[in-house]
Amino acid sequence: MLVRGHRIRLGTVLGFPVEITSSWFLLVVIVVWSFWVRYALEFHHKTDGVGVVMAIVATVIFLGSVFVHELAHAVVARRRGMAVTGITLYIFGGATSAGDPKKPGDEFLMTAAGPLVNFVAALVLWGITIAATHGHLAEVAEVSGEAAWLNLLLGAFNIVPASPLDGGHLLEAVAWRVKGSRPKAILIAAGAGTVLGWLLLAAGFFELLFVTGGLFEGLWIGLIGFMLLEGARSEKMRGWVEGVLENKPAWYLLTEHAAPVTPETSIGWLIGAELVRHHVDAVPVVDSNHVAGVVLAQDALSIPPAERFGRVAKDVMRPVTDLPWARASGKAMDVLRQLAEHPIILLVDDRGGAVGVVSERQVGAVLERLRLLDQRGGQPRSAGQFGPSGSWDQWQPGAGWQPGTGWQPGSGPQPGSPWDQGPPGQDRPKQDPPGKDPGAG
Ligand SMILES: [Zn+2]
Repeated sequence: MLVRGHRIRLGTVLGFPVEITSSWFLLVVIVVWSFWVRYALEFHHKTDGVGVVMAIVATVIFLGSVFVHELAHAVVARRRGMAVTGITLYIFGGATSAGDPKKPGDEFLMTAAGPLVNFVAALVLWGITIAATHGHLAEVAEVSGEAAWLNLLLGAFNIVPASPLDGGHLLEAVAWRVKGSRPKAILIAAGAGTVLGWLLLAAGFFELLFVTGGLFEGLWIGLIGFMLLEGARSEKMRGWVEGVLENKPAWYLLTEHAAPVTPETSIGWLIGAELVRHHVDAVPVVDSNHVAGVVLAQDALSIPPAERFGRVAKDVMRPVTDLPWARASGKAMDVLRQLAEHPIILLVDDRGGAVGVVSERQVGAVLERLRLLDQRGGQPRSAGQFGPSGSWDQWQPGAGWQPGTGWQPGSGPQPGSPWDQGPPGQDRPKQDPPGKDPGAG
């Protein structure tokens, strides 16, 4: 539940990239201001700036605690073999982007590390408070006492068992272990998050309307409730999607196939015959029996209508080597994660031959169709190795796809045929299979 906005890269800590969003500065102002109001009131005889210094120190400790909480998640995630993309700080605290845990235990440990750090910090700060009180350092005692209390609250609020809070992920890990299904566990934790979100929203309204001077606090609680509801909603979505894609290969996500064109096919023809008629997002360009590249709908349509018949496919084609790709036999969930960063993913077979594309624009419709298939029985048209209607590399230029002809469902690519050797001069897959390193969650 990130508040999107301009992001600023601060640098790396322990190898983790750290970013702040512009909303984070608003948090700094709110926190400094509320500490200052408090210290100015309690230490009202000090008008010499001591209150300001105390407010700044308290802010640094508080926001530092939030950061160390995220750092703890990141360190444990990395230890448990999850790829950590980075830490982002924003108005409601922080978020750590890590790959999916493989086991409930990994999820539990990674999640528990954050609140645990806050409880330890609360203990340490409490110790400092006692020492400072004995040493008659009233200001130090005040600031560390406050910070101890805030760390206790931070830890306690975060372990409330409701997604998207840490406690929700702890509940998810337990439910995953008990039920044996991660999608079901995600939905359980998200359901608890929805309940908590509504409760906080109601509490915020109550405070706003009936508690004298409760305007700011009421608004803040209500806003947190609203953010929780939003977070729970996207968690619910994640549970639903993971349920639909559980144990499914990436080629289930393939969208409608276009018939291949030659490099000399005009863009005008390509738009009329393929993009408009078949609603595809990408058209393969086949040159001497290889898929050489792909014309993306967005690229073709960016050419002014008057010029479309004067331009040909190879002018706007993106070479297959330039496209982000994934194995058709890999996990559908991993490809879905890749789609967060690229609008189109090329699927390749195990020898590097192009199979088709998965597009961000159509993935929602594909997921909905898969959900219906799950509910009512059935599977994509082909039970074969790849794709609802076969691999791009199985086609002759211009032949189009004819139901019942050419490639036979279930036959899979034929080794040694000219169609499955991949684009010329290309030695794919050379990189690690994308599934090895799932991206941000
Ligand atoms: Zn956390």
